[in-house]
Amino acid sequence: MTTSNELSRCVAQFDPQALPVSAAQAIVRQWATPIVAAERVMLSDALDRVLAEDIVSPIDVPAYDNSAMDGYAFDSATLGAAAQSGGSISLAVAGRALAGHPFTGKIEATQCVRVMTGALMPAGCDTVVPQEQVQEVIAAGDEQSIRFAAAALRAGSNRRRAGEDLARGAPAVRAGRILRASDLGLLASLGIGEVAVRRRLRVAFFSTGDELRSIGQPLDPGCVYDSNRYTLLAMLRRLNFDAIDLGVVRDEPAALEKALLTAAASADVILTSGGVSVGDADLTKQLSRALGDVAFWSLAMRPGRPMAFGRVWSGGRAGAGDPALFFGLPGNPVAVMVTFYQIVRDALLTMAGATLQPAPVLHATSAISIRKRPGRTEFQRGTAHRAADGRWQVTPTGSQGSGVLSSMSEANCFIVLAHDQPDVDAGDTVEIMLFDGLI
Ligand code: AMP
Ligand code: MG
Repeated sequence: MTTSNELSRCVAQFDPQALPVSAAQAIVRQWATPIVAAERVMLSDALDRVLAEDIVSPIDVPAYDNSAMDGYAFDSATLGAAAQSGGSISLAVAGRALAGHPFTGKIEATQCVRVMTGALMPAGCDTVVPQEQVQEVIAAGDEQSIRFAAAALRAGSNRRRAGEDLARGAPAVRAGRILRASDLGLLASLGIGEVAVRRRLRVAFFSTGDELRSIGQPLDPGCVYDSNRYTLLAMLRRLNFDAIDLGVVRDEPAALEKALLTAAASADVILTSGGVSVGDADLTKQLSRALGDVAFWSLAMRPGRPMAFGRVWSGGRAGAGDPALFFGLPGNPVAVMVTFYQIVRDALLTMAGATLQPAPVLHATSAISIRKRPGRTEFQRGTAHRAADGRWQVTPTGSQGSGVLSSMSEANCFIVLAHDQPDVDAGDTVEIMLFDGLI
């Protein structure tokens, strides 16, 4: 059992005024404990859920040797004899087998069976000549025979073996897997209709700020619509978490305290936006410090400098009631998204029980020069495309201000400029993280 001051101790090893992104990620990772609770769901409801058990194949897939092509199945012993007949083989067609309709007869060495893809290999046959390789089909009354060149074939050609995809007893899908379309198909192919998955991670979130208005309210002078709640909701849903929207909370101590306690009682994780920078209304700081064990960071990163991280307890003080992991994100809309993806996402996936897959990083040529200050990691927004020579090329999207959400909306990748990296010249290679994956 971890005690509340361990987090403070763990954080105290770093300079909170310039915490490198990698250090923040490491601290957060240490505090992300997977939830244990699991439930059984139907396969048709299991997409994007985190598998809670290793699945071992109960059967061979495929369950029987079968034809990989439309063609004719025969005994490969015939191939050896072909040398004497000028390399060509003639066989009489003894019958046919379709997928789901096996050939049940017996064949002789001079015979073959017409087979379609997926058909059970007839007894005595181990090789298939695809119909495209058959040189001649000779019909004499009801009887048919074929002739083909032996040279292109080996024993076992165009035959799929039982268990070739997955042998009985072999691990099929591991616990921790976020189930995708292919996994569901694979599990179905094993005849498994129900799986154990982790309970969905509960994430409560709210926005803070007296200037925030909700959609539908008049936009008074000096006010802005609350956009962070929509980005947070969408980012959480995309990861299939149970997102609990606690609305907009005013910059008032009582309101903030109430929201944080409610969130801690109902969720595994609390995400807030705004109120963590050095400003008059930045009450989150005082409060979350009082309610739990929270560190305030100035990350060596752009955008997304100020951030709070720690634990808040539903009982109102460290150690009392239920704890929730707390991320106080910056208020600026782009900073919210960048800190979510770079600092928060992996921790939430770990808590959800998922086995982490490192985000794929590509190399791209920068189309223009980019100013970059060493000593912080920058996540610029970019549009990447494949140039005519097949290489990726990237251009930063217009203004990189941390409030300019259109730059994020327009972009299809982050340009990751590492902590120590200086300015980038046009034509230099940079790292990019694409927003979209395929499956
Ligand atoms: P703060 O971190 O609270 O000082 O906010 C920094 C900037 O982000 C200010 O310009 C806020 O108006 C803006 N901001 C804070 N929260 C939101 C929100 N939920 N939606 C849109 N803008 C926000
Ligand atoms: Mg604010």
